[in-house]
Amino acid sequence: MSEENKAKKIRKILGIRGMNDILPDESPVWELLENTVESVLKSYGYERIRTPIVEETSLFARGLGAVTDIVEKEMYSFEDSLNGDQLTLRPECTAGVVRAVLEHNLTYNGSKRLWYTGPMFRHERPQRGRYRQFHQIGAEAVGFPGPDIDAELILLCQRLWDDLGLDNIRLELNSIGNAEERNRHRADLIAYFERHKDVLDEDAQRRLYSNPLRILDTKNPHMQDMVNAAPKLLDYLDRESLDHFEGVKKILRRNNIPFTINPRLVRGMDYYNRTVFEWISEELGAQGTVCGGGRYDPLFEMFGGKFTPSCGFAMGVERLIELMKAKGGIDSSKKADVFIAHQGEDALLEATVLAEALRNTGLDVILYCASLNSGGSFKAQMKRADESGATFAILIGEDEISSGQASVKALRAENAGNNQTSVPFEKVADYLVDQIVGECGCGENHPSHDHCIH
Ligand code: ATP
Ligand code: MG
Repeated sequence: MSEENKAKKIRKILGIRGMNDILPDESPVWELLENTVESVLKSYGYERIRTPIVEETSLFARGLGAVTDIVEKEMYSFEDSLNGDQLTLRPECTAGVVRAVLEHNLTYNGSKRLWYTGPMFRHERPQRGRYRQFHQIGAEAVGFPGPDIDAELILLCQRLWDDLGLDNIRLELNSIGNAEERNRHRADLIAYFERHKDVLDEDAQRRLYSNPLRILDTKNPHMQDMVNAAPKLLDYLDRESLDHFEGVKKILRRNNIPFTINPRLVRGMDYYNRTVFEWISEELGAQGTVCGGGRYDPLFEMFGGKFTPSCGFAMGVERLIELMKAKGGIDSSKKADVFIAHQGEDALLEATVLAEALRNTGLDVILYCASLNSGGSFKAQMKRADESGATFAILIGEDEISSGQASVKALRAENAGNNQTSVPFEKVADYLVDQIVGECGCGENHPSHDHCIH
């Protein structure tokens, strides 16, 4: 702290607990995930939708169900002091997407495949894999009644894991039937739990009559045996629900997607019916679920729309990032292709022109700019060049200005053969593009895939 600040006793303001800064070093892994997700979703015909982070509180109370974990105790809700509106930071995005689909009549000619990504907010106890601001990537296929779309969403996830090089993410599947089937099961389940009241923990006691299905989801080890022997919802399903479930399984088997049936998998929200699924990794400790999804046929009608059978999933970005980091292999050291060092006013002017010319060809260029903690000597600038991970450095000093030739220095081992050479300023762009061969493998000379037109 500077003397001045000490004197003023300025309090340092920190970030909010459970809400993380994603620092530049982490950006390459986030970008890899974001770019991969975008291309996978596009390859299945999903279109991106962006809904606001704040919605009316009643949207979530109505959409998620009043007795769910999220609505009961995890929402950031507040009153807008300027107009008295009751608002909530979105804890998930399905409700917002459904609202938007209805509001803009997006399903006027049938169905729609949508996806989103962005921050979500839940007031939970922060711990590994569980934050108060976290990010989700989700897909919502709205207006599709059949098991084909449920299977498609699962195949899409599998492709994403494959493209990201993540193995060991396993699929658990269940069907929770429709409301009527669940009601019959619920009556038997409550009677069963009442007979085992001595084993129920406080949470379970509280949910016994409000949300008994959720008791099956308990992580309390003392309740596991009791819960394992409870009546299984799958045994209460009628023909139609069973056929739907069979349809999903058939497509998965035909496509060699392994899964296990978990009869206790129920998912948190009230709006789910029939197919539910979770993708789980054993490498993340207690917070192992990286993606959860399922069918939510009743939701549109709960919002006053017409019957629109739908299915979707949401994945936890931070948990996927943790898996990607553990796997390694992501180079976050390279910040540019070229670093330009310069000395003297004429050199600076020439350097700015050259940097723009190189950027025109698609190269990423860092131009040295004086900073607080670095001197302007070529030596200090070359240290910066090394830190930038650039493949080439260009030096422009008095000599270069008078000869009209830039000094080009290869910084990386693979280009070390021609370590330093002089190149006329107007030829530098061509020279570097020749040196830095197209990364996309199309055979043409261009610095990066961004500029590939093939
Ligand atoms: P959990 O059982 O871990 O609380 P959930 O059922 O509440 O999960 P969903 O609402 O289905 O989770 O959200 C989908 C995914 O979003 C989860 O599988 C998880 O990967 C991620 N997720 C949910 N809550 C958090 C959180 N607080 N922090 C980080 N990721 C989260
Ligand atoms: Mg939760």
